[in-house]
Amino acid sequence: MSLEDCRNLKQQAGEAKTNGDVESNISSNRFLSLLASKDRNFLISPDGTQVEVSELEGKVVGLYFSANWYPPCRNFTAILIDVHEQLKSNRSKFELVFVSSDENLEAFNDYRALMPWLSIPFSDVETKKALDRKFNIEGVPCLIILQPEDDNDEATLHDGVEILYRFGVQAFPFTKQRLEELELQERQKHERQTLTNLLADHDRDYLFGHPAPKQVPIDSLMGKTIGLFFSAQWCNPGVKFTPKLVSIYHKIKQMLILNDNDEDFEIVFVSNDWDQSGFNSYFNTMPWLALPFGEPTAKNLAKYFDVRGIPCLIILGPDGKTITKHGRNLINLYQENAYPFTEAKVDLLEKQMDEEAKNLPRSEYHAGHKHELTLVSQETGGGPFICCDCDEQGAGWAYQCLDCGYEVHPKCVRAVDTSNMLGR
Ligand SMILES: [Zn+2]
Ligand SMILES: [Zn+2]
Repeated sequence: MSLEDCRNLKQQAGEAKTNGDVESNISSNRFLSLLASKDRNFLISPDGTQVEVSELEGKVVGLYFSANWYPPCRNFTAILIDVHEQLKSNRSKFELVFVSSDENLEAFNDYRALMPWLSIPFSDVETKKALDRKFNIEGVPCLIILQPEDDNDEATLHDGVEILYRFGVQAFPFTKQRLEELELQERQKHERQTLTNLLADHDRDYLFGHPAPKQVPIDSLMGKTIGLFFSAQWCNPGVKFTPKLVSIYHKIKQMLILNDNDEDFEIVFVSNDWDQSGFNSYFNTMPWLALPFGEPTAKNLAKYFDVRGIPCLIILGPDGKTITKHGRNLINLYQENAYPFTEAKVDLLEKQMDEEAKNLPRSEYHAGHKHELTLVSQETGGGPFICCDCDEQGAGWAYQCLDCGYEVHPKCVRAVDTSNMLGR
């Protein structure tokens, strides 16, 4: 959505408020006005029977925009089923309504059969469209959560998917106050964070080193900067990133020896592999330590750090507190210079990069692309991107093809001689 759209929306919201009297007349039947149509006052239940919209009165209602053909939707549906079941079993005033983006009735029916809640009939395209517009739905899965007696949508949450991934059923009743409480709890948990309470469990105070299963005490990592490397052998980007990380790991170690101070750096592999043999062969390519395979600690860490995709590199400071969750990105941008990954260091590197960019050519031909590439920054149309040359993330300065969006890190450009390309 462009900035222009945001402003328009705000204006509309402002105008709606000045018409408050009209609004409140409709509001006694808020769910009816949203979910019913002029010739339908019901929703369909899982077994196909009709349930009157008025039965939602007084409940917190989630509108679930989803489509059966899209894997992220199916993944989230599984989570939603779990949350719904838990809330039903303790008789919470909560209900869900499926708003389908399925392609045909058969797909809708198949998908709906999985969902133990209500649905808008597939045939009612108008109501679905109106909901899409009202809540500005831009993609699925999307979960809009409505509070009862909230006629102006002041308490409506638009990021239900995000909230359930983070907090699960604990987020009920999905009020802003409840979310603030959870945020506070999470912050406090992170403030109490130490290396031991992250990596140890009640009967293990060590990690694996080489040759596995050599035991390395977690205590021996105290005072070091630590990278937690979440990856798996089945994950292609992870396997591709690993040798880069190995080489940079060695360079950082080397640099610290030359600097001759007390600082040290270590990486701990947190495996998401499917089986022990996958873990073993992958860990053999790494010179650092690992959490033993298959322990709940690995899953807990991923949840705690909100790891959504792998590979992921979380950096902890010498005091055991989190420095950044963007270790992978920083390694890609700055290689070994990213160490120790602190905000101060990143600021410095950004300034240096801005300085260096002044000397870079404004445009360049790169061996991997047929069009001319233009130097862009965050301010001039750049921003987070995936480098088309090394397939890794980038941010800030980049060479971009204005025709087709092809984008590479400045360090990845292999300039080509264009003297014989004139007249193209
Ligand atoms: Zn690159
Ligand atoms: Zn191009």
